Amino acid sequence: MAKEHILVVEDEEDIQELIRYNLQREGYQVTCASSGEAGLEAARSGRPDVIILDIMLPGMNGLDVCRDLKSGPNALPTPVIILSARGEETDVVTGLELGADDYVTKPFSPKILIARVRAALRRTTHVELNPQDPLSIHELKINPGKHEAFLGEEPLVLTATEFRILHFLSKHPGWVFTRKQIVDTVHGDDYPVTERSIDVQIAGLRRKLGEMADYIETVRGIGYRMKE
Ligand code: CA
Repeated sequence: MAKEHILVVEDEEDIQELIRYNLQREGYQVTCASSGEAGLEAARSGRPDVIILDIMLPGMNGLDVCRDLKSGPNALPTPVIILSARGEETDVVTGLELGADDYVTKPFSPKILIARVRAALRRTTHVELNPQDPLSIHELKINPGKHEAFLGEEPLVLTATEFRILHFLSKHPGWVFTRKQIVDTVHGDDYPVTERSIDVQIAGLRRKLGEMADYIETVRGIGYRMKE
């Protein structure tokens, strides 16, 4: 069986080693790079399956690397997991908006990081649902074709924008989206959706979900996600 290849871009040797050790123990093939420039080169030439990218790097930082990898005609589809230090939420938001898929905050447990790597790999091998296909998660059933949502057997009465937000988050359980990403996806036509109004929409959705309101989790400083 081909081993999946993970690229780790991290300048701190002990963290790089910790990640390498744990990934290899799980059977992954690991390449490490200690600077943004080397990481970029390794990402473009080595075709990794997932890239773990530290933000704070000497020289070209992780956000610059992410921007380079994810923009233009040569953008790579490879999932990027950002490593950030606590208190760097704005960088995480920027990273997600530049095209990173997920993030892990330092200090992290290797278990968490490996779970995120697995989720990222699942996501790439996962066959994209037809956008109109019904989906169910937890007690929720969503039928985009009919614009219907049910909580258990109870129909949910949602506005068009609430419906789109719920559907979008439900398609990617466990993944955090920034307010801007949610706005860009739902671009409501009932009235202009702003980043601020996303909070209002989420509050409305949670009210309608009642006891199941915690399906929609707030990720402080970053955005929202559907509980996994
Ligand atoms: Ca660093």
